[in-house]
Amino acid sequence: MTLYPKSSNDLTTEVFGVLRDSGAFCCVECGKCVAVCPMADMYPYFSHDMSPRGFLKAARMSPKIIEDGRLWCCAECNACTETCPEGVSCREMVKGLKKIALDREKADKMKRCSLCGIIYTSMQIIDFLTDKLKQQHFDYLELCPSCRMAVYLRRNA
Ligand code: SF4
Ligand code: SF4
Repeated sequence: MTLYPKSSNDLTTEVFGVLRDSGAFCCVECGKCVAVCPMADMYPYFSHDMSPRGFLKAARMSPKIIEDGRLWCCAECNACTETCPEGVSCREMVKGLKKIALDREKADKMKRCSLCGIIYTSMQIIDFLTDKLKQQHFDYLELCPSCRMAVYLRRNA
């Protein structure tokens, strides 16, 4: 059930479009996506609110979801989508919500490439990877995928 009002502003319309296109209104709240989401293992502060099902529920309640910094914890791995029996693509929903947040400058702490300057991921993901890598190849994390490949190829030519 969506609680969106009939009289909608632009933000509401945009978020509604993302929910519609990702199949979010077909969610039957079975919880299968929560069971496969890696965020539970990635973040010690994980809670149900920041699970795929939690994101879906919050997004259906209010377009203010785009201001929830926990969206940026999503690794966009697609495990939730692949397991959903109703064909809901939580990853596409999160990607769409992130884009709206970026367009409206409501994004959380973002990571820019130290070479070309583009935003390529969030600080939540960088913090997780930094902890996992324990300083090995840490400098690559400063670069977007394109610059990372270029530097890697240059170093290994
Ligand atoms: S697996 Fe699909 S139907 Fe079940 S809670 Fe997740 S999004 Fe909803
Ligand atoms: S795409 Fe995001 S929400 Fe879905 S399983 Fe992966 S990390 Fe979790």
